[in-house]
Amino acid sequence: TPEQLDAGRRAYELDRAHVFHSWSAQETLDPMTFVKAEGSHVWDADGRRYLDFSSQLVNTNIGHQHPTVVNAIVKQATELCTIAPQHANAARSEAARLIAELTPGDLNRVFFTNGGADANEHAIRMARLHTGRKKVLSAYRSYHGGTHLAINATGDPRRIPNDDGDSGVVHFFPAYPYRSYFHSDSPEQETQRALAHLEDMIVLEGAANIAALVLESIPGTAGIYVPPPGYIEGVRELTAKYGIVYIADEVMAGFGRAGKWFAVDHWGVTPDIITFAKGVNSGYVPLGGVAMSETIYQTFAQRPYPGGLTYSGHPLACAAAVGAITAMREESMVENAARLGEEVFGPELLAMAERHPSIGEVRGAGCFWAIELVKNRETKEPMAAYGGSSPEMNELIAALKSAGMLPFANFNRIHVVPPLNISDDDARRGLAIIDEALHLADAHVA
Ligand code: PLP
Repeated sequence: TPEQLDAGRRAYELDRAHVFHSWSAQETLDPMTFVKAEGSHVWDADGRRYLDFSSQLVNTNIGHQHPTVVNAIVKQATELCTIAPQHANAARSEAARLIAELTPGDLNRVFFTNGGADANEHAIRMARLHTGRKKVLSAYRSYHGGTHLAINATGDPRRIPNDDGDSGVVHFFPAYPYRSYFHSDSPEQETQRALAHLEDMIVLEGAANIAALVLESIPGTAGIYVPPPGYIEGVRELTAKYGIVYIADEVMAGFGRAGKWFAVDHWGVTPDIITFAKGVNSGYVPLGGVAMSETIYQTFAQRPYPGGLTYSGHPLACAAAVGAITAMREESMVENAARLGEEVFGPELLAMAERHPSIGEVRGAGCFWAIELVKNRETKEPMAAYGGSSPEMNELIAALKSAGMLPFANFNRIHVVPPLNISDDDARRGLAIIDEALHLADAHVA
């Protein structure tokens, strides 16, 4: 309607006048304006419908406007919108119980935060207090959040302008078979060499100084490079051997994204701490958290934990988590994500890689896939430099959008990260849009 068009235009103008956006040079931006969303689709202010193959920032694991969660939020809002963190509340208690039920091993105590970055901040603080050590090991090609310590733990270029040189974070090279730092030529060799490198790092940095190792179980924004067999098990063994707290960052990979409740479940590994956010309630209300082992918990059984937030375990966010986890269970969304990965995304993307010389590699699990684009398969020269964009990538992204898709793109990669309950038809339609648009990228292959 003309009113909706006007409202959309006004939203855009006010945005440009007053809203300061993340990670951006403000006057280079041209944001899309969205007015409506449902399931795997979103509508812009002109009434155009887009297939959401991004799940926004890979967080709407249950899709948009799921009625179970909307109703849970409405019900909670009617009963009790907010309550201070020192009081007990049914929504928070039940969310913690459900999360404890889903996490592996004895990770049965949950500290709630507002998102993923502060979950990692608190996890590291707990590890430091638990061990009395300061250093933190973290992987290059990782993302752990935008707050000060979390961005210093991050291993992508966004860390560099924020690097204070005094964060205590030391970066190591992760296992990444496609672009191996270890010149390995098999996944087994990659695992073995990456673990040997990690152990060297621990010894050379001084195990007695290292509080924590923080690692995305499957690195997300950095490229969905699934660790080769044995790597995560090896990380668990090394951290245990040297008394280092193993923090698995499951902010993006967790809550069904990779076809298991937590990505570590692929390897049967129990870290000391899992950090989560995003999929815990699909981002309907901001929520993150730290799930910790009994050993970590015991450090703070008699000694106060020196940290907190006004909104720790906010009832609206926790009610949304209870709603989301309930809906995911009732509708078998995690199983569906695993099936989609095995039956649709895996085989279709591999077939696409055969057809398109611009595809260097496809990889992933569940509803968590990356297409890594290259200008040359032999040299693996990326379609955009690490940390940057390129005219070739921008052209491809524009083509995907004009074909009616909202993609997730990062550097030289397109990620296939739709809601876990996307229909098979929509999943295939999205892949067909990518397949079609990739001819543009193929034209730049040398
Ligand atoms: N950790 C990982 C693996 C993430 O992907 C993100 C966000 O993308 C974060 C942490 C930070 O979460 P938030 O943006 O909620 O602070």
